[in-house]
Amino acid sequence: MNEVKKPSTIVDDPNAADDNVELSPSLGDEVKYTTCYMCACRCGIKVYLDDGKVRYIQGNRNHPVNGGVLCGKGSSGIMQHYSPARLSKPLKRVGERGSNEFVEIEWDEALQIASERLGNIRNTDPKKLAFFTGRDQSQALTGWWASQFGTPNYAAHGGFCSVNMAAGGLYTIGGAFWEFAEPDWHHAKYFMMFGVAEDHDSNPIKKGLGLLKQRGAKFVAVNPVRTGYGAIADEWVGIRPGTDGLFVMSLVHELLKSGNVDVEYLIRYTNSGWLVIDDEGAADHGLFARDADGNPLCWDQDAGALANAKSGKVDNPALKGEFTLSDGRKAVPSFEILAKRYLDAQYAPEQVAHICGLEVAQIKRIAAELAHVAFKETIEIDQEWTDWTGRKHDKMIGRPVAFHAMRGISAHSNGFHTCRMLHVLQVLLGSVEVPGGFRVKAPYPKHIPPGIKPTGKPGQVNPNTPLPGAPLGFPTGPEDLLVNADGTARRIDKAYSWEHPISSHGMMHMVIHNAWKGDPYKIDTLMMFMANMSWNSSMNTAGTIEMLTDKDEDGNYKIPNIIYSDAYFSEMVPYADLVLPDTTYLERHDCISLLDRPISNADGCADAIRYPVVEPDRDVRGFQSVLIDLGHRLGLPGLTNDDGTAKYPGGLADYMVNHERAPGVGMLGGWRGKDGDKPLKGEVNPNQLNKYIENQSFWQHEFAPDQRYFKMANKNYLDWSADMGLLPNGDPIIFQLYSEVFQKFRLAAEGHGDHNPPKADGERILKYFDPLPIWYQPFEESMVDTKEYNLHALTQRPMHMYHSWGSQNTWLRQITGKNRMFIHQDVARKIGAVDEDWVWVSSHHARIRCQIKIVDGVNPNTIWTWNAIGKRRGAWNLDKDASEAKEGFLLNHLISELLPQQDDGYRYSNSDPITGQAAWFDLRVKIEKAEPSQFGESYPQFPVIEKFEQLPDTPNISRYGDSFRKKREGK
Ligand code: SF4
Repeated sequence: MNEVKKPSTIVDDPNAADDNVELSPSLGDEVKYTTCYMCACRCGIKVYLDDGKVRYIQGNRNHPVNGGVLCGKGSSGIMQHYSPARLSKPLKRVGERGSNEFVEIEWDEALQIASERLGNIRNTDPKKLAFFTGRDQSQALTGWWASQFGTPNYAAHGGFCSVNMAAGGLYTIGGAFWEFAEPDWHHAKYFMMFGVAEDHDSNPIKKGLGLLKQRGAKFVAVNPVRTGYGAIADEWVGIRPGTDGLFVMSLVHELLKSGNVDVEYLIRYTNSGWLVIDDEGAADHGLFARDADGNPLCWDQDAGALANAKSGKVDNPALKGEFTLSDGRKAVPSFEILAKRYLDAQYAPEQVAHICGLEVAQIKRIAAELAHVAFKETIEIDQEWTDWTGRKHDKMIGRPVAFHAMRGISAHSNGFHTCRMLHVLQVLLGSVEVPGGFRVKAPYPKHIPPGIKPTGKPGQVNPNTPLPGAPLGFPTGPEDLLVNADGTARRIDKAYSWEHPISSHGMMHMVIHNAWKGDPYKIDTLMMFMANMSWNSSMNTAGTIEMLTDKDEDGNYKIPNIIYSDAYFSEMVPYADLVLPDTTYLERHDCISLLDRPISNADGCADAIRYPVVEPDRDVRGFQSVLIDLGHRLGLPGLTNDDGTAKYPGGLADYMVNHERAPGVGMLGGWRGKDGDKPLKGEVNPNQLNKYIENQSFWQHEFAPDQRYFKMANKNYLDWSADMGLLPNGDPIIFQLYSEVFQKFRLAAEGHGDHNPPKADGERILKYFDPLPIWYQPFEESMVDTKEYNLHALTQRPMHMYHSWGSQNTWLRQITGKNRMFIHQDVARKIGAVDEDWVWVSSHHARIRCQIKIVDGVNPNTIWTWNAIGKRRGAWNLDKDASEAKEGFLLNHLISELLPQQDDGYRYSNSDPITGQAAWFDLRVKIEKAEPSQFGESYPQFPVIEKFEQLPDTPNISRYGDSFRKKREGK
């Protein structure tokens, strides 16, 4: 196995050197710094090379993300790079789809095939290209490319990941959990974490938890499963899946009841005092009352009059009461509506505890603890700052309770409101952007919601014409939807339609189904990057495989053309017509841009690059460079000069340096300006990439001490941010506890205005577009017989793996080579099963057979397994009898992409009705013991993917590192 030694620590005892142990072996003849891509966290790494081979990977101590911390996945990047599953040349399908019959072709031919096909689409009907990317870290490029092409049918995988988390935050506080914010690890005294997996802010969270533990802060993990970070929590709240929102509402109920909300904070930084029109049936009922200039109104208690709520001059707006507007109608402060809602007895712990699977006393105690820490253990930092009104503050005062959350609470059909509710709780406690609280990372906070609107409306999609804007954005009302005059969807995934109006990350999980069905229309080409959609990235795996291979009555594939780019021989490759082999992350350029997904922290902004630390030894090309090349061949204006030559002949590296999104604003913020002396905004610097490489592949700008907190209202931060182009202007960001955007949709559903939904969608909008967070039973749970399907079923992500990439990695497979279904001992007892027995697990959609492991640390109504371990036989160049394929399994087989049929026969997507987020964790199942004769192999099994000649033989024993040892020993 691996013979590479880790660097020794400094030895103080001189005698220690006598034992013949080589304490500081050479780790290679060259070191290069780049950015890890073994998960989404983007840590800085030092790559040691020996004779041009990757010998060792170490965390970069200077890097703003990880400060030297490297996880098991990061160190195993060597096996990712040398994976026997790597593709090595472009492929053209010659057999039936799925047969794995390809011929190798040259890149010129591959690009010719792709550009001809895509050129025809662009010349006729650009929306017939659906371009979706998976775990892509270059969405600022891929989204822009789609816009240049002219298709609205673009998204990355956020719709099936955590768009509820992003949208819930961006429509409430202008920032979000995900990796876009962080607890104030240095000051928080009480930390609650809801449903967090290990792949988005992984090492920073580990470092942060260490800091909390050192200071004795309390860590409460809310998750049906006690695993991952929760293993070191001081308290585990083993909540029933899909009830987190109700739990948070109950906490808010307790805080309101006891008067533990930060009134001063609400007045200064939120819309709590804004008056809401109370005129049932009117076209503006539930909207904010506004003055002639459109400013929201409040009631100034000192002046005894209506006033502009955004003037910054009202110190004492009313938060309760009823007031008369100039037209004689009534209005109430939005806080009054909020308080009334959550003070209702239905949110009392006594009412919700049994639904959440918790004790009444536990909810009450946690609410009391939050209140105590927030209001009795206030933090003060001696730092002057100035708010947006010009008022000086001599201190920064904070409520040291912090929260973090991720996919566990968002991957439900009620996830959007749950995510929003968690932000409401934070704001009521006054703990957002304050010392000890929750802090966003630049370029956040943004104005609420961010000002980008989706494009693709009627008239905006035309042959040979770029879209007038980005495909994805943030609707602020029904007029921003992408629908036809008859209300039907404009996008293939039905994002931004009346079915899912705020689907700000698209709905990748619906693309294959809709394209196959031709609903809302047929497409020509599905182009995907890094998305294992025939396997672990899709719901209804068996159905998806059928859709990918299904033909019409003329014998043509219903999805006519599939172009796919991946570095590896994943389960998706056999279903492509054209395969464009990507490089590994150590072989290519990448741009981890502030225009995309920042690596900033709360005290500064930062971005990073990848560059080839080794050259590819195969005929592969980075997908982003291929996309730029393809764009030029297609004559896309942003990629082609007037004389027809390529704008970025040097591919992605060229684009990273020379592309400007706005004057002076490019992909990278560091060393801009012709002399490289301008941060964030400045002319193109031809030497920029070298500067990054000299600086270990990252750039960082630290905020001045007075800019670090209260960013939503901090004059110096807001002005700087506007100067740098991070915000369109320096206006304050006012937290929207009550969302007028949602009320606008409800009014449209009531028939007001010019944009109204079809009747069935209108009923959903009336029900779910509440301007304040609501809780409702997850859809699948409400539609199946819960006596029969009596359990919830979830996946968790192992700390040591990142989706299917990790479970094919030679070193990581040795940690987890197959998954089990973890079940509570009470469940095992009920079905008469003992540890390691095999069981059948069935949903309303399908059934699987798998092996169990009995555990205690799980909600007794919940079973769970590791995500993406199960593999299809023969995929990833693994042995067809590999344990991952023979005994491993996927929960995906059980999950339908559609909800059960309604009375009218229609089946909505199995998604959140607001954002279209895939409701992976709504799954309900039943479990029964399998017959002993059925033990030993998981079900379903699919036909073996026969070995593909291009791939190398895979040794049974990996001896990577042996050559380094031999070299060292002179052999
Ligand atoms: S946390 Fe993710 S990015 Fe960081 S070292 Fe581990 S795998 Fe790499």
